[in-house]
Amino acid sequence: MEKRFDILPLEEWGMFTLPRPFVIAGPCSAESEEQLMDTARQLRAQGINVLRAGIWKPRTHPGCFEGAGPEGLKWLKKAKNELGLKVCTEVANEKHVFECLKMGIDMVWIGARTTANPFLVQEIAEALKDTDIAVLVKNPVNPDIDLWIGALERLSAQGIRKLGVIHRGFTSLEEKKYRNSPQWQLAIELRSRYPELPFFCDPSHMAGCREYIPELSQKALNLGFDGLMVESHRDPSCALSDAKQQFTPDDLMDMIRSLTVRERDTDDSEYKENITELRARIDSCDDALLRILGSRMQVSRKIGRYKKENNIAIIQAARWDSLLEQVYKTADIYDLDHEFIAKVFNAIHEASVQEQNKILSE
Ligand code: PEP
Ligand code: MN
Repeated sequence: MEKRFDILPLEEWGMFTLPRPFVIAGPCSAESEEQLMDTARQLRAQGINVLRAGIWKPRTHPGCFEGAGPEGLKWLKKAKNELGLKVCTEVANEKHVFECLKMGIDMVWIGARTTANPFLVQEIAEALKDTDIAVLVKNPVNPDIDLWIGALERLSAQGIRKLGVIHRGFTSLEEKKYRNSPQWQLAIELRSRYPELPFFCDPSHMAGCREYIPELSQKALNLGFDGLMVESHRDPSCALSDAKQQFTPDDLMDMIRSLTVRERDTDDSEYKENITELRARIDSCDDALLRILGSRMQVSRKIGRYKKENNIAIIQAARWDSLLEQVYKTADIYDLDHEFIAKVFNAIHEASVQEQNKILSE
């Protein structure tokens, strides 16, 4: 079992109130006092409790709008005091942390580019030591789950207990549809390794445009994420950063209301009985699968020994092609997806070749 993090449950952070999903919303960047306050007021009216706004913006090219800087923190403080919102922003170094602490910011997040840099994460973690501030860690830009976990370890080691993660997708050369490739399997892995970690999804930076935000948000809720961080601007067409992916506060709430929230668990005894029975069936299927894989491998070893006796090469491409062709036909009968079946059978084939190779090299 992995070392678990010592984390305060999200419900005890004093910022998020039921029902789920917990929503953090606000503009990509705080642009002016008026823009931030107006957006914040509209979000408040829609029932949002936690406001986000970037103060220091990590832009790809110099000369773009790089955030309002410390002046913007005053506007966040004003939104907090006048509207009763909890407020959060991104920090990328210790100086940002000190400025935020001075201004009573309730929560900070570490951006994807910063999570990828252990020096900066360490500096931030040390600057946060002995504070009660909440910290969310975005996944690093590259799909490296250990780098993500390492950042959490650095913060946890400094006593941060209001700690959680934001899944915002990864840079990928193959991804065509989304700005950042979701690679859900990485989030699922992190979530199953550390079930105590509060989990948010940022569908805005994942999608890169408004159109795909609802489907990504729903997927996150289907996977049991605790909440969403979504960008919202009073007038997205005028936004100084990430204009295409921001919703007006009204549209944001329409989107949130259209989502189906999945419960994490239930006390319903009928559900519990049925799910236990279904899980027992899965367990016995898995058992049968393993038994059959074991027998298959034994036959494969036998073939290996036979090939060795007859001095025949292991790979027989024609045989493998005809096997796969037959497998696809059978897969159709059982309503199994070809791509999935190809992955399974290629893995089985690879393991068989390895075993036969061992035999031939004995
Ligand atoms: C942001 O939240 O505005 C931001 C810059 O996000 P990311 O670090 O995910 O790119
Ligand atoms: Mn943004």
